[in-house]
Amino acid sequence: MNILIINCGSSSLKYQLINMDNEEVLAKGLVERIGIEGSQVKHTTTGKEEVIIKETMNDHRKALELVLNALIDSNYGAISSMDEINAVGHRVVHGGERFASSVVIDDEVMEALHDCIDLAPLHNPPNIMGIEACKELMPNTPMVGVFDTAFHQTIPMANYIYPLPYELYEKYGIRKYGFHGTSHKYVAIRAAEILDKDIRDLNIISCHLGNGASVCAIQGGKSVETSMGFTPLEGLAMGTRSGDLDPAIIPFIMEKENLTFDEANELFNKKSGVLGISGISSDFRDLEEAAEAGNKRAQLALDVFANRVRKYIGAYTAVMCDVDALIFTAGIGENSVYIREKICEGLECIGIMLDKERNKVRGKESIISRSIISTAILVIPTNEELMIARDTLELVSK
Ligand code: ADP
Repeated sequence: MNILIINCGSSSLKYQLINMDNEEVLAKGLVERIGIEGSQVKHTTTGKEEVIIKETMNDHRKALELVLNALIDSNYGAISSMDEINAVGHRVVHGGERFASSVVIDDEVMEALHDCIDLAPLHNPPNIMGIEACKELMPNTPMVGVFDTAFHQTIPMANYIYPLPYELYEKYGIRKYGFHGTSHKYVAIRAAEILDKDIRDLNIISCHLGNGASVCAIQGGKSVETSMGFTPLEGLAMGTRSGDLDPAIIPFIMEKENLTFDEANELFNKKSGVLGISGISSDFRDLEEAAEAGNKRAQLALDVFANRVRKYIGAYTAVMCDVDALIFTAGIGENSVYIREKICEGLECIGIMLDKERNKVRGKESIISRSIISTAILVIPTNEELMIARDTLELVSK
């Protein structure tokens, strides 16, 4: 069975076609600049050269049409007709409290997705556009929605309620939702497999460290705490997001700098984090290089980032009492030897003992702790697409 995975952003569309008989990727690609001049599809069928298709795409429907044409192209395609796509799995950022697991998309689900727009005004509308385009172009193909928030619906109420007037939770659903759920779930399952343990017996801390970054405490396979909150802005310092702040800072800056809501949103989401501190870049490769060359603000940004992650590891150790596995994943977690070492520095007191030699690894599954007797430290490349494909397969096979 072949499953197409679709991940729509406001002007982008990422896709993968996976053969679920052997979980191999048949083709993948990225559409960029949808609705903007210069739109293009970068498509690669496994074993063939990458092709770039430049064509005007005014909307996600047109983008998807070009993707489907690329998939069935007789030269650079992966399949011979659309009938060979048996199901579609869509990544959806916010499922609110309504979705605690993935679902087959029907009219009722579409309605519920529209109801969640308020909670994720930037992310959910493009996700919905992608689903609607697929429904139009492939009306008879079953579709499944997989939510970034669903994995965290097991977080206990005492961990997800903010200390605000309770009526605000009742009226607007203001609570912690958490994100990156598909990634945290995937790496936790992989960690149990690598350690040859039943996931129900493990306490895991998963650190998804990419442009967006979050930490998750996973007890017996279930999320019990996570660092992102009502939106992905809470928690760690990120590429361009501030993460945790004294909330009083927000109105203070708005008043002093005479900012509108949109400008404030932009400041905390796009101009803060390690970019804001360093003034150089949100990319950790640039920051590591600059810090090495003596740039103090780049070094400070790396220190702040690592300290925050370390603080959350300490907090989540307290949440679960003891930790069997600490996982690093996503761009920085998988690749930055320096950041992993910096995060683990001084955590020997809670049994987290990094092996500096084993830590010299990038982008491949590895155990990087001195032993696995106290806490096993693992690098596990995430694979959200495969997790979405597995959920899709399970639901459409029912
Ligand atoms: P997202 O999916 O959230 O956009 P990724 O998981 O792709 O992010 O991570 C992107 C980040 O990974 C980049 O900003 C970069 O800082 C970091 N990264 C990638 N490769 C390396 C590397 N070799 N060393 C340090 N950081 C890296």
